[in-house]
Amino acid sequence: MLNHSISEQNNTDLEHLFKSQLLTSTLWRSSSADDRIARLKKIRTWIKDHQQEIRNALKNDFGKPESETDLSEIFPVTAEINHSIKKLHKWMTPKSVSTPLPMLGTSGSIYHEPKGRSLIIAPWNYPFNLSIGPLISALSAGCPVILKPSEMTPHTSELISKMISELFAPKEVAVVLGGIETSQALLKLPFDHIFFTGSPTVGKIVMKAAAENLSSVTLELGGKSPAIVDEDADCKDAAEKLIWGKYVNCGQTCIAPDYLLVHESKLENLFSEMKVAIQKMYDPDFKGIEKSPDMARIVNDKHFNRLTENIEDALSKGAQLVFGGNSDQHTRYIEPTILRNVSDEMQVMEEEIFGPILPVKSYTSLGEAIDYVNSKPKPLALYFFGVNAEQSSKVLRETSSGNAVINDCVLHYLHMELPFGGVNNSGIGKAHGYHGFLAFSNEKGVLKQRVGLNNVTLLRPPYGIKAKQII
Ligand code: NAD
Repeated sequence: MLNHSISEQNNTDLEHLFKSQLLTSTLWRSSSADDRIARLKKIRTWIKDHQQEIRNALKNDFGKPESETDLSEIFPVTAEINHSIKKLHKWMTPKSVSTPLPMLGTSGSIYHEPKGRSLIIAPWNYPFNLSIGPLISALSAGCPVILKPSEMTPHTSELISKMISELFAPKEVAVVLGGIETSQALLKLPFDHIFFTGSPTVGKIVMKAAAENLSSVTLELGGKSPAIVDEDADCKDAAEKLIWGKYVNCGQTCIAPDYLLVHESKLENLFSEMKVAIQKMYDPDFKGIEKSPDMARIVNDKHFNRLTENIEDALSKGAQLVFGGNSDQHTRYIEPTILRNVSDEMQVMEEEIFGPILPVKSYTSLGEAIDYVNSKPKPLALYFFGVNAEQSSKVLRETSSGNAVINDCVLHYLHMELPFGGVNNSGIGKAHGYHGFLAFSNEKGVLKQRVGLNNVTLLRPPYGIKAKQII
């Protein structure tokens, strides 16, 4: 049998592995909530026993601070596990639906059956969380999984492979290590469900491949998530929340505020509060932000070069530095950077930034900010800062985004009762808690009729005038 960590695989190996999960998918279809909970508990225990190894792997991959690993890689996964353990019996119980008049005498309910063999493809930016989080949902739903973590975070991917090989047989859960070629080889297989987290560009490739087999997909994608700071916003409060949301993981967060739209009357106040917030969070002892133990690094040279070019491009086209702008190629450090006077021809306003650069545009009326958001592809998240409830509900009503947060940012990720995900360009389908369970479940509508009860004879020939009586 194949090894659980398959790094030198070829297509035949992958096909064998895939085939080996068929029996599991059939057996697990009737697995109980307790069976599934036992699998989740194994993962929880492993994580608890290997916390330091997880921290070390993330540190080796991109200098991720230990406390950020605890908060953004380990905690969300254990929260997802705990939530699933608590709710799984309820989620799995068939849900009765009410009976429409013409169906009197029957009963209808919704069963959740596992979709079956599932593929999870994960990105590099939260490499542990975004691999194991969807795995929790798949196992809760009763699906065997082939998981392909990112090739860009090799230490974390190796550790995930080790963890899975210690906890599961490959016919249940297997990790396949590799890059684009491996991903594309996996995408040729007729999985029942594909859960992909990554860029919209690759999301389209995944969806095309899935169409060949009519595999269902969950696409957790990215894009440019705007934050609007309105004329009655509390600038100190907004600044502290925005600075954390933007610079956690060094800006390499799918739901980081990508750019700000700020009411012109608030610009100067917000800028000074943001400078204070950066100082307070990342340089409290005035030793320099570069020395902060809480600032991660850029994942690789390619992204470092892209980001520093983004800053140069913006400055050469008329943007001004409000803060930052410095960088160190050797350590792949980029200072938290805030830019003003940005325009749409600049790279920072064209592409998802995915780094510690925050471009700021101003507006004079909220309608103008809404029109700007609506002129772009639908974002993964939209943030609004302001105390006027009419203004925030106007934004909620008149824009479309995967998620929205009023007077905070990024925090919704941790709310297990809320569906998490994008819309169109930022994603298809939702994750987390019940919504993650649903992503890997077929909602099977079941109608039960009573033997001998023939209350639907109207539907049968000879129709005569009976059919007319129905409408
Ligand atoms: P990516 O799309 O480049 O890669 C993601 C995965 O796809 C990796 O495992 C990679 O090996 C594979 N892949 C890459 N190119 C491929 C191809 N041509 N064919 C098949 N597979 C391919 O994304 P990334 O750089 O790892 O992550 C950053 C992106 O992910 C950003 O756009 C970010 O917004 C998004 N993201 C979204 C979420 C979310 O929950 N919605 C979370 C994190 C990141």
